[in-house]
Amino acid sequence: MQHMSLQLGCLSCSDSARADLAPRDRVYLSPRWRVAHAFGTQLPGWLVVLPRRHVTVLDELTLAEQAELGPLLAAVTAALRETIHCGKTYVALFAEAEGFEHIHFHVVPRTDDLDPAFRGPFVFALLGGDTATQVPQQVRDQIASKLAASASLRALSGRWDEEG
Ligand SMILES: [Zn+2]
Repeated sequence: MQHMSLQLGCLSCSDSARADLAPRDRVYLSPRWRVAHAFGTQLPGWLVVLPRRHVTVLDELTLAEQAELGPLLAAVTAALRETIHCGKTYVALFAEAEGFEHIHFHVVPRTDDLDPAFRGPFVFALLGGDTATQVPQQVRDQIASKLAASASLRALSGRWDEEG
């Protein structure tokens, strides 16, 4: 059923359809939502939360998708606080870059030692840019595995698995 609502040529959709997702691409996986470690970021623990269906505007989410989103954003934040030891998280939705219109919430760990130059919306300067300074794939896999094993995400995962 989900495959009917996937969009050809959308990276988020083609990733969601994969049966062999790498740890970095499945921090959390339910019938409705997926959480991945962002690629091209310099900040370890920078996550994206995205619906499994191709959705490009927030109000296109079904009520069931909306119902899971709030607890998921909270659980992702709890997992980051526990694992990355950040005081809080930033959450942002843009989804307008070409090829990335599939909505995705950026959940960014705000650590105490974050350079003041990168606080608030300026944190997006840590996405993209020089590949040499980006979090390597194996580190993203390691962080993602730790987050996936956190009590908060595992508890939520069990809850939605039961409800389907
Ligand atoms: Zn899509």
